Amino acid sequence: MTTSPQAPIKVPIFDGHNDVLLRLWKRGGGDAPRAFLEGEGKGQLDLPMAQQGGFAGGMFAMFVPSPDRSANGDAKPPPQPGAGEVRTPPPVELEPAQRAVFTMLSLLLRIEQESQGRVRICRSVADIEQAITDGVLAPVAHIEGAEAIDENFELLHVLHAAGLRSLGPVWSRPNAFGHGVPFVCPSSPDTGPGLTDLGKDLVRTCNRLRILIDLSHLNEGGFWDVAAVSEAPLVATHSNVHAISPHSRNLIDKQLDAIRESGGMVGMNFAVSFLRPDGRHEADTPLDLAVDHLAHLIDRVGEDGVGLGSDFDGAKMPANLANAGMLPNLVTAMRERQFGEALIEKVCFRNWLRVLGKTWGR
Ligand code: ZN
Repeated sequence: MTTSPQAPIKVPIFDGHNDVLLRLWKRGGGDAPRAFLEGEGKGQLDLPMAQQGGFAGGMFAMFVPSPDRSANGDAKPPPQPGAGEVRTPPPVELEPAQRAVFTMLSLLLRIEQESQGRVRICRSVADIEQAITDGVLAPVAHIEGAEAIDENFELLHVLHAAGLRSLGPVWSRPNAFGHGVPFVCPSSPDTGPGLTDLGKDLVRTCNRLRILIDLSHLNEGGFWDVAAVSEAPLVATHSNVHAISPHSRNLIDKQLDAIRESGGMVGMNFAVSFLRPDGRHEADTPLDLAVDHLAHLIDRVGEDGVGLGSDFDGAKMPANLANAGMLPNLVTAMRERQFGEALIEKVCFRNWLRVLGKTWGR
């Protein structure tokens, strides 16, 4: 049986990364949860857009902006420094980072509370599968840059109990756990030292708690440090192919091979600056280029090691994928490149469920 191209089946999409909690935090107001649930025609992800596009759930990041900026740097990278000089955003102190994380987690909890059953925070793969079956949005709490985590990991245990299931030790700046990769194009991801000893302890503690370690935003040194220490599959929730777009944020083939060997995966990032060979912030970026990244990832990491990691509300998107409501356009682009339906389902959600199950113990 074939599917008519006029009426494609809507495939559920589980997504590796979005920054909607940051957008809502910056928006402010006691009605921010309702703004997400009812939609107000702003941003790239809210519940109506999710329902329209088949966005079934994903990792919802708690990201703490650096003090001199209000935006996530994926959207607004720091100005390109002169030759030989690489600038990273300034560090964030523990207390303001904790305040920001509490506020964003509280926003997520209130979205669930006020959703009248339309949103259910997920803590296991069984939770996600049930939410997809029920047509309920399935957010998973994620921390992007662990500045809020104290050196004794006390808050980490509290956040885990509150639902935290995924953590990136660094964003693109230095912290107590390691050195993030700066935003430079063209550049190798090998930009300096990797994890600190405390960062390696954080990886071991996350392994024990079965919290996913996110490799996106680590430099190459940090990547290999995690690979040496971690017992879990290697996962980059929102990164792309350096061989196509030579951005410092993207992964070289040697890293992709290590991810494959570990049974891990990569979530393909929709940000135009990580898709384009020229690294430019231009919405006029064809979805065929996104499919090129998927094809390369399938080639290097395998059909079981590729998913999506949109970066909605954290970056500039291609015009034809401007918000979550337009996700079917990406599915259509995969069909046009002769991805079969089984592979499309793996990319859209099944691979995430597989890797999260291995990491969390389901
Ligand atoms: Zn990011």
